[in-house]
Amino acid sequence: MTTQTAPQNLSCAVTGSQDYLNYIGGKWVPAKSGKTFKNVNPADPSDMVGTFPASGEADIQEAILAAKKAFEQWRLVPAPKRGEIMFKAGNLLIERKEELARAMTREMGKVVAETRGDVQEAIDMVFYAAGEGRRLFGETTPSELVNKFCMTVRQPLGVVGLITPWNFPMAIPSWKIAPALICGNTMVLKPASDTPLSSILLVQIFEEAGVPPGVINLVCGSGSEAGMPLMKSENVKLISFTGSCEVGRIVNETCAPDFRHVTLEMGGKNACIIMDDANLELAVEGVVWGAFGTSGQRCTATSRVIVDRKVHAKVRELILTKMKTLKLGYGLNDGVNIGPVVNEAAMNKILEYIEIGKAEGADMLAGGSRETTAGSGWFVQPTLFDNVKSTMRIAQEEIFGPVTALIPVDGLKEAIQVANAIDFGLSTAIYTKDVNQAFTALRDLESGLTYVNAPTIGAEVHLPFGGMKNTGNGHRDAGQTALDTFCEWKSCFVDYSDSLQKAQIDD
Ligand code: NAP
Repeated sequence: MTTQTAPQNLSCAVTGSQDYLNYIGGKWVPAKSGKTFKNVNPADPSDMVGTFPASGEADIQEAILAAKKAFEQWRLVPAPKRGEIMFKAGNLLIERKEELARAMTREMGKVVAETRGDVQEAIDMVFYAAGEGRRLFGETTPSELVNKFCMTVRQPLGVVGLITPWNFPMAIPSWKIAPALICGNTMVLKPASDTPLSSILLVQIFEEAGVPPGVINLVCGSGSEAGMPLMKSENVKLISFTGSCEVGRIVNETCAPDFRHVTLEMGGKNACIIMDDANLELAVEGVVWGAFGTSGQRCTATSRVIVDRKVHAKVRELILTKMKTLKLGYGLNDGVNIGPVVNEAAMNKILEYIEIGKAEGADMLAGGSRETTAGSGWFVQPTLFDNVKSTMRIAQEEIFGPVTALIPVDGLKEAIQVANAIDFGLSTAIYTKDVNQAFTALRDLESGLTYVNAPTIGAEVHLPFGGMKNTGNGHRDAGQTALDTFCEWKSCFVDYSDSLQKAQIDD
């Protein structure tokens, strides 16, 4: 079935193919050039998901202008009223959760239980941010002078640019859209080219909920053709980016000359430490879920398992046993735990890393190949390397696939040293029953997220999300910290003394 419908038809998104459009100034429109690109189901490349506008600078500029115009009104809408619209959007997401999840599995491959979680994260974030509409607190504080009142207030930035990756195609756009909206900004979203559909369906829900025209604009297209002009525009006050370090560096450098704000959430090489006193069954369950869920394509995926040598053999055996239970296939089919990776290039990159691991001398104990029995798509077998040295490339570089590395160590001190001996700092975990070891790890692991007796994945929207070192630039998505991203602070002073008072100068 191929249809030309605008706005987009959700049931067709789940099973059919349609020509999708950009959303600019409250209208669904094609790219000005008329160019499109196709997206297919990664589990079955003969299943065409749809065509999408291959937009460029002219589309981006139109979207920025629409956002700029809408800002004049939106910034003055009381934040609790903005929140009411967002609560409506949250309820629509709940109503359509199953269909949205199924469309997302088809679009990017992860199994439907996980895409339901992706939609749920968007629901949680929209409700959380909507509630902040009644809480965008500032401070009042005593003045150092008499008859003077001091307070701080938050103010929106203006037009913000949101550039998002494909692995959480609804959750991550929502992490940016929802706080940006509640703070009174208007925006242009450039979704990943592998997953524009989920963003389109999300934006359509905000439209239906009553977000006024021009407040949210969505422009599909490649990073270089659509992302670059968005970053370069002087009308865009902030670029909020999530993606790879390579592209994050380009974003940072592009926005630096005119000091425009940039938030960067980038790659990870996350470690799970298993101590000898841990509940090993629980730890291994966490490792297998953390390493192979979403086919390892999570920024927080467990790509290193740092195990105390005393339990190394046992942990290895338990992981291998558990891996045998994993079923690869189309994520909408019953009983499937692992879907395909997102596209052919991603599959080839993962297979190359597997060859690198073998050449480096690591012992490959399971997996190692493309899986052709799971379907015609881009399936990679869950792969376990053992006796990996911390300096090997497979222990240092982000593979972004279902590959993990067992690294044996002697005790907590070495475990923490190895965990920290990388350029990234997103997520870490430790399994231990010893409270002293747990708190030492919480203090010393260099990562934005640390879990005790839980896997490296499992963020919650009301806590800050992001990383140290090359994972980020000091900002955080989600939590209260997201409000700081999307606001400027203003310190306000009201002098009611009827005289000139000079701070720090008058006695
Ligand atoms: P990516 O290749 O860096 O792309 C991210 C976004 O940037 C996409 O929308 C992409 O557009 C766009 N882009 C690419 N080149 C650009 C350019 N020159 N100018 C402007 N925009 C450009 O990352 P990805 O493959 O989508 O996502 C995987 C990466 O994201 C991994 O490294 C993962 O760790 C990271 N990630 C981090 C977090 C976190 O919170 N720390 C969360 C999720 C994912 P196209 O799609 O058109 O190329």
